[in-house]
Amino acid sequence: MSQVNLSFSIQGDSEGFVTLECPFCNSEFKVNAGEFQNDNKPVFDLFCPYCGLTSEKNNFYTRETIEKIQALVTNYAIEQLNEAFGKMACRINSRNSVIKMDFKPLKAANIKELKDRDTTEEIFSCGCCENHVKVHYCAGVSKVYCPYCGVDI
Ligand SMILES: [Zn+2]
Ligand SMILES: [Zn+2]
Repeated sequence: MSQVNLSFSIQGDSEGFVTLECPFCNSEFKVNAGEFQNDNKPVFDLFCPYCGLTSEKNNFYTRETIEKIQALVTNYAIEQLNEAFGKMACRINSRNSVIKMDFKPLKAANIKELKDRDTTEEIFSCGCCENHVKVHYCAGVSKVYCPYCGVDI
């Protein structure tokens, strides 16, 4: 079996922001899709803008996003199976043998668009790395951390 790299990109909301969730405090925040998935400046670790803790960026995906990624992987596997079995059925039937293979392709799961809904949050930009973050900012919250470099904004 050769290794397969499935690539996907997450679409943002109307302003190009994608929703992430902190694995520590479960708060949701949004980062700019282009900055988060920038191939020239790959992002490995993120800081939570609320509690300031840091972890691998994969730990920040929301359940919804993970489910969609799993659906993509499953669909890919189904496609491969369909192709392999389709060919096999063809070969067997073309030999005109007594064995007839009937093949019904499996149906791929429906993938919802990786699109984020719009919510009311405020956009902050980091003076240090110039990246952007969208957070639920309410009065009383005095600190917002940059998800990329962890400084107060
Ligand atoms: Zn947090
Ligand atoms: Zn920053």
